Amino acid sequence: MYFEDVRQWQGTAEALAKELKRQIEQLELSIEPPALRTVRSWRTKQLLSQPKGQEFGFRQVLEGLATALLLKKGWTLAAITQVLPSFSDDTLEMQILVEAQGQDPTWLPTITATALPLPTGHRPAMDLAEDAVVLLAQGIIRQYERVLPGKQIVRQEDSTLPPELYQAMCKLGRLYIEEGQCDRAACVHTVLNNARYPLGSDRWGLKIFSQSDFRFSNATIIDPDLRVPTSDCAEIANLSRGFGENNVIEHRLYTELCDATQRLGGRRQHKAYTALRELFGRYSLIGQRQLFDYLVDHDLTPLQGMIIEKFFDLVPDIWLIDNLAHRCADCGTLMRPHPNSKLFAQGRCPIRQCIGHESPKVYEKLDPNKDILWIAKPQILTYWTGPAIDELAIFDIARQNGLDAELYPESDLCDIGINGKVIGIDAKSYTSPVTLALRLNRSIGGLIYYRRRILAVNDRLIEDNPSYISTLKSTLDKKDDPASLVIMSVSSVIEFLKKMPYANQT
Ligand SMILES: [Zn+2]
Repeated sequence: MYFEDVRQWQGTAEALAKELKRQIEQLELSIEPPALRTVRSWRTKQLLSQPKGQEFGFRQVLEGLATALLLKKGWTLAAITQVLPSFSDDTLEMQILVEAQGQDPTWLPTITATALPLPTGHRPAMDLAEDAVVLLAQGIIRQYERVLPGKQIVRQEDSTLPPELYQAMCKLGRLYIEEGQCDRAACVHTVLNNARYPLGSDRWGLKIFSQSDFRFSNATIIDPDLRVPTSDCAEIANLSRGFGENNVIEHRLYTELCDATQRLGGRRQHKAYTALRELFGRYSLIGQRQLFDYLVDHDLTPLQGMIIEKFFDLVPDIWLIDNLAHRCADCGTLMRPHPNSKLFAQGRCPIRQCIGHESPKVYEKLDPNKDILWIAKPQILTYWTGPAIDELAIFDIARQNGLDAELYPESDLCDIGINGKVIGIDAKSYTSPVTLALRLNRSIGGLIYYRRRILAVNDRLIEDNPSYISTLKSTLDKKDDPASLVIMSVSSVIEFLKKMPYANQT
């Protein structure tokens, strides 16, 4: 037996650090030996089970090796703390030796087969699932705010993860284990990666998330391509009162834009607001010359420096295809190279709401050496450029049919106002009808100033989820402002607007 010479081992923290180093070298494990400081912190966190004031023994050698191995696999310290006590010395020895032979041991089935001392039955699993998702949404927004300045990267260390994200991972881990599955939430990178898929999808593989009575089955937390927390995420994060509205991305963007245009004062301010939102909608990829012309035409030259700095990035080389920037034929944004170079040889539009996301077509190829190319920042693409596809379609149809239509009137009272305050239209593309309803139940926003209030739901969301509108309606409050909303698909709003000029004549 391999461990014979250490079964009677005893020593201090310093001796344990040395012993772990010796074992790791002898067993040729591809892990870093923990430093003395780490060994001490493992004791504080009760990964090493020896009672305070006593010397370490053989058990702690095994626990130390197992901890280092599991950390390398991406487990959190909390998850390790939870499972280590359930392993007998024999099991630990066996698992470590299997690792030493370069095989991937089945740490997890052992865990699920062992009766875990998990507290069960106190709270319904559904509550746990919802709490996990709220914390996940909050944690992801916090994480996003931290990486925003581009200074930090996501690191699997309990001390640097936002506490909400860490707590979400523990709760998700419990959900997996209670379903008799492996803990698929132990690694932050896996969790963040899964967050780009709907909660009810196979990707998450949690039965409770796909149950029909789980409210957020359809919600996706992170935009799959732009890697920005979605509107659904922001809404779920807001469910518990502890999270201020000011923290939510779209609101912050809006405030920034208003602060910028306010300097122009009065009516110019609202016109500038509309011009900038239209810029992000129609020209999210733009050459410097065209950008400057646009700013001159719309009286925005005083804001030039701020606009570029706050809302645009230079097109990075990694998004060029054969040294050229490909423009999407449908929405006009920058297409990105895709790992599947057969299916997406010319790149793929990163915007979920764009037809070019599924069937990409290149409108033109721009040479960054001929003009400086700017691309709207990812959060602008997520919160403004993507939704603008429906908004502009509705606005353009209204204009073409001779209606008195205004885009983002009065700094965004609604998306499209028609005939002054007669009709207000908001286009929405939340992936989950429930999060959209919760948002509207809180406030229907500036639509409140309009006589007729129309909510236009993205057609593809309805195609993907035929009960979208009925779920939305059933979750909306049946009284007060939400009850006054007329819910339609974008295409039926467009049909409605086409007929409107004739309806007025009669
Ligand atoms: Zn596109």
